[in-house]
Amino acid sequence: MDVYRRWFCTCSSTRVELAYEAIAEGETDEPGEPTCPRCGATPSSDPRRTVSYEDVPLFKD
Ligand SMILES: [Zn+2]
Repeated sequence: MDVYRRWFCTCSSTRVELAYEAIAEGETDEPGEPTCPRCGATPSSDPRRTVSYEDVPLFKD
C-alpha cells in the first residue's frame, strides 16, 4: 500500500506540519526535504528531537 509521509514538529505547544520547500529546477536531484516553518528543523537536522512523522495511507479509486 502506498503511504504519504507527513512530518510534524513539536517545537511549540502546537504541532506544526513541516512544509516541503520548492527546489529550483536543476539545483539538485534530491527531493525537497520538509522543513519546520517555525524553527527550521528537518528530519535530518533535528537537534532538539522535535520532528516526528505519521504515515497516511493513500487510497486509490
Ligand atoms: Zn519546529
